[in-house]
Amino acid sequence: MNGRTPGRQLPLLQVDRAPVRLSVLDERLRGTKFVSLEPKSVLNSPQQTGVDFWSLNPYVGCEFGCTYCYARYAHRYTVERAHDAGKLTDEEFLEFRGPHGWEAFERRVFVKETLLGALERDLQRYFRSAGPTVHPPAPIVIGTATDPYQPAERRFRLTRQLLERLARCEGLNIGIITKSPLIARDTDVLRRIQERSDLEVHISLNTVDVALIRQVEARSPMPAVRLRALKRLADGGVRVGLIVAPVLPGITDDVPHLEALFQAAREAGARFVHAGPLRLYSAVRDRFLPMLDERFPHLAARYRRAYGGRTGAPRDYARALAARIKKLQARFGFPVNQRMADRYGRRLAPAQAELGL
Ligand code: SF4
Repeated sequence: MNGRTPGRQLPLLQVDRAPVRLSVLDERLRGTKFVSLEPKSVLNSPQQTGVDFWSLNPYVGCEFGCTYCYARYAHRYTVERAHDAGKLTDEEFLEFRGPHGWEAFERRVFVKETLLGALERDLQRYFRSAGPTVHPPAPIVIGTATDPYQPAERRFRLTRQLLERLARCEGLNIGIITKSPLIARDTDVLRRIQERSDLEVHISLNTVDVALIRQVEARSPMPAVRLRALKRLADGGVRVGLIVAPVLPGITDDVPHLEALFQAAREAGARFVHAGPLRLYSAVRDRFLPMLDERFPHLAARYRRAYGGRTGAPRDYARALAARIKKLQARFGFPVNQRMADRYGRRLAPAQAELGL
């Protein structure tokens, strides 16, 4: 971020009947804009999302730009809904979506600036919904749709603020998912959370191959940097592990690849390793399949066949991958068959998918 245009006003959305001009908080040289958003609510309940946990995402959109990212749909939905409701002009809508439709997710990042006030109201709702007899409370997962430690967090510190607030609660069950080493900045507050609540940090990494990662993730932190952050957290006493998701069939699912990840996780002090295969949601296809055509043309037709009209990978692949992961978990001394589903319920444990599509 270069701070060239702080506070510049951009006519974007209307709230209720009065048009509201949203501030462009910052802008990068390559064109990414960070736009202020004032949500009424930030903690999504299981009823709202259809999953078994509460979710929290301080940002909408993510600069890391992974080609397989399923969260693009949420950003697209937000922008399309605003356009359909007449809150974005056609011109603004086009500018937001970019030439292919998926660019906006990486280039127009909404910053939930007033997150703390909304969280305060949401926590009351959360504790009310738990009631006096529900124990332990439903998990809260931070980073389900966008990375809570993406580069914007360095400046806006929203994730830090919300963690500070959650550290004052007791008996929560909190998960955090990130690819960013910036999370190590918050080791102190994570430790405070752990004193009163159950916490698991998931560092997301699907290969240690630097060249390969740049093929599938546009601007994510390098593997060594993520593993160093994992080690810093582990050394700092934070319960942290590795999440290998998505495993990309035919690209990152071979034994040497996975072994290298498990080995690196072991050396960094990870407590667990979870893994799950790619889910090819429709919003992912627009971005991921052209990438395959260009960079892995030998796999393109096989992916299209295997994923056909489905989101999850074929069942045989799922079984084979699950068996491979279990063996590696055992060999490297991690809890075997532990899946994110065991802790968070549906959706965060991707249905397993086909070795040899
Ligand atoms: S880091 Fe996560 S949220 Fe960001 S683009 Fe990659 S998969 Fe999506």
